[in-house]
Amino acid sequence: METFEQELRRRICDIGRNLFNKDFIAANDGNISARLSESEVLATPTGVSKGYLEPHMLVKVNLQGEILEAADGYRPSTETKMHLKIYNELPEMNGVVHAHPPYATAFAIKGEALDKMMMPESVIAMGDIPLAVYGTPSTDEIPDSLEPFLGKKTAVLLESHGALTWGKDIMAAYMNMERLEYTAKLTYITRMIGGERELPQHRIDELVALRSFYGM
Ligand SMILES: [Zn+2]
Repeated sequence: METFEQELRRRICDIGRNLFNKDFIAANDGNISARLSESEVLATPTGVSKGYLEPHMLVKVNLQGEILEAADGYRPSTETKMHLKIYNELPEMNGVVHAHPPYATAFAIKGEALDKMMMPESVIAMGDIPLAVYGTPSTDEIPDSLEPFLGKKTAVLLESHGALTWGKDIMAAYMNMERLEYTAKLTYITRMIGGERELPQHRIDELVALRSFYGM
């Protein structure tokens, strides 16, 4: 029988491969983490392609970012700070994904939030995807830029950088990243064909009311 830790390690590796195969990350970009217990987080190591992760490569840190367990040659990414911001501030959130998906990152570089309410699923599941202001990676600037969205959103664009999503579990965080990139891609395509068209307000209101029905 797989332990919870083994299961989490396997899931993080699966998600790494998906991010890589979907072209959401290049080379050793991106990072994934999951809360293992009240005070422990499993995170992907720095300098490794997330498409070729193996369970033993993941590092275990506490909520302050101190290493609790790491195989020889593996250490946490400096970007783990933004993951820990989520775990420290939002006890009900248990998974975080950071990637540079091309369509979403293009909007992040342009500095444009994804706030067009064009599709029922996107309105129900996510609402608008805001833009967190630019910060230098590894500093406290990125974690601080998330502050306005904590408890309100589970997906944000990071200005001139990429995207960050979180969720009740690591799979939810990953699916939020898929939906975020899909929204960015559709926004791009509809704009290219001159077809960006938002739902009327009363339709948006109906969908927002459905959110509680879907448990969101
Ligand atoms: Zn990054």
